[in-house]
Amino acid sequence: MSEAKEYLANVRASLVKRDPNQPEFLEAVDNFFHTITPVLEEHPEYIQANLIERLIEPERAFQFRVPWVDDEGNVQVNRGFRVQFSAAIGPYKGGLRFHPSVNLSIVKFLGFEQIFKNSLTGLPIGGGKGGSDFNPKGKSDGEVMRFAQSFMTELQRHIGPDIDVPAGDIGVGGREIGYLYGQYRKIRGYQAGVLTGKGLSYGGSLARTEATGFGLLYFTQALLADQGESLDGKKIKVSGAGNVAIYAIQKAAELGATVLTASDSDGFVYDPNGIDYKIVQQIKEVERGRIKDYADRVDTAEYHEGSVWDFDLDYDIALPCATQNEIDGGRATRIAQNGATVVNCGSNMPCTPEAVEIFHKSDVLLGPAKAANAGGVAVSALEMSQNGERLSWTFEEVDQRLEKIMQNIYTESAGAAKQYGFGKDYLAGANIAGFKKVADAMFAQGVI
Ligand code: NDP
Repeated sequence: MSEAKEYLANVRASLVKRDPNQPEFLEAVDNFFHTITPVLEEHPEYIQANLIERLIEPERAFQFRVPWVDDEGNVQVNRGFRVQFSAAIGPYKGGLRFHPSVNLSIVKFLGFEQIFKNSLTGLPIGGGKGGSDFNPKGKSDGEVMRFAQSFMTELQRHIGPDIDVPAGDIGVGGREIGYLYGQYRKIRGYQAGVLTGKGLSYGGSLARTEATGFGLLYFTQALLADQGESLDGKKIKVSGAGNVAIYAIQKAAELGATVLTASDSDGFVYDPNGIDYKIVQQIKEVERGRIKDYADRVDTAEYHEGSVWDFDLDYDIALPCATQNEIDGGRATRIAQNGATVVNCGSNMPCTPEAVEIFHKSDVLLGPAKAANAGGVAVSALEMSQNGERLSWTFEEVDQRLEKIMQNIYTESAGAAKQYGFGKDYLAGANIAGFKKVADAMFAQGVI
C-alpha cells in the first residue's frame, strides 16, 4: 500500500471510531477519499502536515435549542445546527435545511461537500451548512415566522457578511429567508450581505432563485458538448418539485429537451408531452400543494405513488433534484437499463456508493453534485458581491456569469479527471479540482 493510501486508511479508521453515528458524513468522506490519493502522492508534504485529518474536522460546529409557540399556543422545541467547516479560501458559505431528518451527520456531510463545491466555483468562499429538524410542511406562515425568528435569535451570534453567510436549501426558500433576514436585521442592524437568496426588494440578486436549476442544465450542456452532443430532443427524468427541480425543468425545455417527470416525497407525475414548470411553480411555490395536483390540471399527465426512479421509461438523462441517497444500486441498474447515459446531480449526494459504482461500470456519465449543482452557491457569491458594491446587476449579466462558471466547472472537473488517470470519472475530477485549491490554501496558512 502506498504511503498516501495507508495515511487515508488510518484517518478513516480514526473517523469511524470517533463518529460511529454519522453515516452520511462518513459516506461523503469515503466518496472523497477514494479519489484524492494521486494528489497526496504528488504532495507528500500534505501527509506530513496531517492536512486531511484537519480537513475532515469542522473548524466549528454549533447545536442550539430553538423554542417557538405554535398556533394552538403549545411550546415546541427544535434543534438548530450550524457547521462552519472550512474558511481556508473565504467566509463559510452554505445553505440552511429545514427538514425532520436533519441531524449533525447530515449537516456535516453537506458542509464537507460544500467546501469543494465552493472552491470549484472559482470564487472566494469557504464551506459551511446548517439547518434544523423543524418540518415546515403543513405549518402556517405565522408558525414558520416564529420558528425562523427563534432560530435566528441564536444563529446571529455566529454569522456575518465576512464570517459566515447562510442561504436556502430543502425547506428554506424565499419566505424563510425573508423571516430569517428580518430577525437578523432587528437584532444586528442592516447588513444585506449576511444571507443570500434574499428577495429582490431587500438586496437579493436577480437569477438567484433560478441559479441551481439553470446551472445544472448549463453543466449538462457543457458535458454533452464534450461528447459531441446537445440537449436538443433529449428526454429527461427529473425528481423533486422544489427550487432546484422547477428551474431545471424550465431551462431544459428552453434548451430543446423534454422533461417527462417531477416528484415529491409522496409520488410523481409523468407527462409524455413534457412537464410545464409554471404549473409546478404555482402548485409548490404559491399553493404549497402536492405534485399529485399537477395530474388534476393537465390531461396528459398521470400520477403514481412511490419513487420516480422505480418507474420504467425510455429516456436519455436523469437529473435527481430531491434529496440524498434517492438512487440506490437497484435504481441505478434500472436507470442504465432504461437507456439513460448521463446522470447529473441537482440534489446533494443523491447516489449511494453502490449506485456510483454501477454507473461507472455501465459507462453512464455521472456529473457529481459538487460540480453540477454549484450554480446556486455561485450566484449566492455574486449576490454577496452586489451587496458589497451596493449595486444590482441585470438578470442577463448574472445569468451569463452563471453559464460561464458552470462551463468552467465542467472543464476543470473533466480536465482533472483526465490528468490524474480517472478518464471520465467526473466525481474524481471534481474532488481533485476542488481539493487542490483548498489544500494549497491550508498548507500555506500553517497548522491552524
Ligand atoms: P426544496 O425543499 O425546494 O424541494 C425539495 C424537493 O425534494 C421537494 O419536492 C421534496 O418533496 C423532495 N424531497 C425532499 N426530501 C425528500 C425525500 N426524503 N424523498 C423524496 N423526495 C424528497 O429543496 P431544493 O430544491 O432547494 O433542494 C433539493 C436538493 O438540491 C437538496 O439535495 C439540496 O441540498 C440541493 N441543493 C439545493 C440548492 C438550492 O439552491 N436550493 C443548491 C444546491 C443543492 P416534499 O415537498 O414532499 O418534501
